[in-house]
Parts: sequence; structure tokens; C-alpha cells
Amino acid sequence: MATLSNISIELPVPNHDEVQIKNFIGGNWYDPISNNYIDNINPSTDTLICKIPDSGPQDVDFATSAAKAAFPAWSSLPPKTRASYMHKLADLLDKNNETFAQFETMDQGKTLNFARNVDISRSAYNFRYFADYIEANLSEFAASSSYPTAMIGSDGNPIMSEALSYTKRSAVGVAGLISPWNLPLYLLTWKIAPCVAAGNTCVCKPSEFTSVTAMMLTRLIKQAGIPDGVINIVFGLGQSTGNSIVTHKDIPLISFTGGTVTGKAIASAAAPMFKHLSLELGGKNPGLVFADCDLDLAIATSVKSSFQNQGEICLTASRLYVERPIFDTFVARLKEATRKTVIVGDPTNPNTFYGPLVSKQHYNKVVSYIKLAQESGYDVEFCVDQAVSPHVSEIGESGQLVIKGLEKGYFVAPTVITGCPQDSRVVQEEIFGPVVVVLPFDTEEQAIELANGNQYGLAATVWSGDQRRLRRVAGQILSGTVWCNCWMVRNLDMPFGGFKASGVGTEGGKYSIDFFSKKQAIVLG
Ligand code: NAD
Repeated sequence: MATLSNISIELPVPNHDEVQIKNFIGGNWYDPISNNYIDNINPSTDTLICKIPDSGPQDVDFATSAAKAAFPAWSSLPPKTRASYMHKLADLLDKNNETFAQFETMDQGKTLNFARNVDISRSAYNFRYFADYIEANLSEFAASSSYPTAMIGSDGNPIMSEALSYTKRSAVGVAGLISPWNLPLYLLTWKIAPCVAAGNTCVCKPSEFTSVTAMMLTRLIKQAGIPDGVINIVFGLGQSTGNSIVTHKDIPLISFTGGTVTGKAIASAAAPMFKHLSLELGGKNPGLVFADCDLDLAIATSVKSSFQNQGEICLTASRLYVERPIFDTFVARLKEATRKTVIVGDPTNPNTFYGPLVSKQHYNKVVSYIKLAQESGYDVEFCVDQAVSPHVSEIGESGQLVIKGLEKGYFVAPTVITGCPQDSRVVQEEIFGPVVVVLPFDTEEQAIELANGNQYGLAATVWSGDQRRLRRVAGQILSGTVWCNCWMVRNLDMPFGGFKASGVGTEGGKYSIDFFSKKQAIVLG
């Protein structure tokens, strides 16, 4: 595997073994003002990849000034010109897909296949999609929709009937974009693309656990010729760098994806400043499996929706409810299918299904939930077959896996928990790891009640052969997305967002552009 110091994209790094990432501000690379750095660890090996800046308010202020200075020129460019820069960036990302995927894998622990085919290719697609969107909807950004107003006065006669009203959509200014570690480049570019397409400039902060591909993106931003200051990336911790972005007086809108607890902190810091917020937060997504479903498809998909990317996807169906007549069969077959297909190990190996969890801290959190389930007396099964996963040399008491050659990696077994009540913590709280709980239900009404009986409302899946039931049930589940007989099928035009504690606001296609622009009503009397 490549290392950061011999990476083929020319990087803004010092010429020595210990690589330090730099902040990207106004088109140049800078050390953090504090000169402090944070270790960035490879979760497969527990070794240092590089050091990332521990940026503070002054770095954020510097980046915000650069973004503010770039705003007038960028926002006045014809949308077509902005789109052409974005297409260049998308092409460069596609050209460098393999290098980016290798580093995403090294940094996050996801498999190389997933990084290539999902994270990096969709990052390129994010730019292409929003470039195309803005070109196809140019009229929205011009003065448009003019029409005469006819208001009736108190005497019953029209007043101001000659007045011309029209709406104009324009960019807002500098946006703060804060992203998590599970789909690092994908979720960062999912924000950058609509933001800059709409004419804003931005100050971005990727997760401190997965900053490498964001730093690599800075090089491509330069190569694409995107004007200096349009996209600024500042690295660091949430409490300092992230909070400085959220509270900066010159950043009027914040788009955040991450945990619900962080979302609450951001909402309360931003509210007194009347900031425009989009919060995409956590999930504990229900999957309802009715007895009349295509069981083979439901099982095969549930293996993916439970364990893909180590269960570190906000949309995993981590809470399965199965109609009682097929409950035992479903659980037995899910466990068997998992043992047969989920190979845990080196994420660079093409046969690996999933790799290590992102960090030691997160590994400890996931293992602590498994311990809790064991101590509570629930039925906890680690679905690992060493004949299928020959690299697993040891299965720990609470699912900790030791992988040959990667003994220090943060690997956890695919874990199926049954016998746990609806109000237990493992059913109610987001574990965000390879752990799925499975509970029975008796009636459609009960299934809906159980699905909705949780603070989150991000996504749900429903499995049934009855089309009417699918529509009926889907309409009653309180979540932003409901997949029927499928999972993770995404059309970027569709609204995406969470209900309840899963978020505030809607992203996707026109909804993202709505968030990143303001609409004025102008009346010529
Ligand atoms: P997190 O909330 O810990 O961190 C997310 C980002 O916020 C990081 O960049 C972090 O540094 C920053 N941050 C932390 N505290 C901050 C503060 N006080 N002010 C400003 N920024 C701050 O989340 P995470 O652990 O990185 O990601 C996992 C979570 O993200 C899970 O809950 C998952 O469900 C959620 N997620 C949601 C979606 C979605 O679309 N709804 C997508 C992916 C992940």
C-alpha cells in the first residue's frame, strides 16, 4: 500500500517521514497557528498515518476571511462557469480514484472495494450531479417569475395593479461544513458540491479521525483551477475547530452531519446567532420483515444492511423486527448467511466484507454495548466461521477479533442479539458498529409501533410481498426514507433527511440548493 510520503498526487507535506497535514486556506497550505498536531491512526494496524493540525479560532478566522474575500467574485460567476470547475474536479477525482480509495481505506478501515466503488466514485458524482443540476436550473438564479400583482383595496378596487413582483435566488455567503468519519470524502463533498454550485464559498472541517482524503482533495481543488478561497479546509477537533466554525460571526449557515449529541450542541450554540442550520444526525433504523416477503432477498440484504462498512453507516437497519411465524427461521438463516459471507479482516483484501472499526475509542464503545447485552442475559451470537474467515485467529469474549498479521487492529465480530426487550439500551441507542438486534412482532400495527418507538427517524426498510401493505406501512413509519424490498438505493434528486432526533432540514437535489441559497421577493411599485 502507498504511504502518505510516496503518494503519487503531489502533496503539500514536508519532506520527512512524519507527515503533517496542513490547513488549506485561500489556496495555500498553512501550519496551524498553535503549531500543535493530533495523531491520525490507521485502525487496521494501530500505527500513525500522519499528524493533523489542531486548529483553533484564529485558523478558522483566517479561513473565514479567505472565504469571505472570495465570495463576491465566485457568486457573480455565471453558474455555467462554476459548473465547469466542478466537472474538472469530478474528472480529477475519477482519475485518482485508486489512490484516494487506498488512503480512505487506510484512514477509515473500510474495504478498498467499498472505498473505490462507493466513497470515491460517489464523491466525484456529487460534483458532477450538482454541476449538472445548477446548469439545468439556471433560470432559478436569474431574476425570474415576474408577474403582476393585483391586490384588492378596502374600496374593492385593485391597488398597485401595475406592480411587478419577482423572485431572485442568490448565494448566502460563507458556509461552515462539518462532516463525520464514516464516509469521509463522500459526506464532505456531498456538502461542498451544492454549496459552491449555488455560489457560496466555504470553510470545511472533516472528522479528526479521517482527514487524509480531504487533504488530498485540496491538491485537486488547485489542479481544477477553482479560485483561491472558494473552498477552505481547516483540520482539527470538534470542540475547538468545529465550534469555532459554528460560532463564527461571518458564517451564516452551517451544514453538519454527525451524532445527535453533537447536533444538539451545535443547535444550541448556533440558535442565538440565528444561523441557518442543516443537521443530519444519528439513526437506529428499523427493518420490518413480514412473513409474506421474499425471504431469500430479505436475508441477503439484511446481511448487508446490518454489517456493510462495519455497520458504520448511518442508514444500517440495525433494529430488525420479524413477524413471529418466521422469526426463528429468519434468525437462524441470518446467522448462517452472515457466517458464510461476512469475512472480517484486512480491508485491502478483495474478499474482505468488512475491516476494523474507525478508532480505538469507537471500538471500545461498540464492545461495551456487546458486554452490556451479555451482562443483561440477552442471546448474543458472534457469527464468525473460521473456515470462511481463516484470518481470524481469536474471537474475544465480547466479540473482539484478532486478525492474523493485523493483531493490533480494531476488529469486532458480526454480532446478532436476540431476546432483548424493546426498551433495552441495545435496541434504543445507536451502536454504529457490526451489531444487529432482532425482535419478533405479531401484527402490522405492532410492527409500526415498534419501528416508531425510538427517538430516531432516519431510514427504515420494509419487507413484504404485498404492495398495498408496503405503501400502507411505509406511510406510517416516522423516518425520512423508507426502503421497500431494497436497501441503500439512492436517487440524489430525492429528499434526504431525518425525522425526530435524526435531524433538521432536508438535503438532496433541489433541497440542498434551497438550503444553500436565499430567495428574495422583489416588488417594483
Ligand atoms: P460526531 O458528531 O462526533 O462528529 C461529527 C463532526 O462534528 C466531526 O467533524 C467532529 O469533529 C465535529 N464536532 C464534534 N463536536 C463538535 C462541536 N461541538 N461543534 C462543532 N463540530 C463538532 O460524529 P461522528 O462520530 O464523526 O459520526 C458518527 C455519527 O454521524 C453517527 O451518529 C451517525 O449516525 C452520524 N451520521 C449521520 C448521517 C446522516 O446523513 N444523517 C450520515 C453519516 C453519519
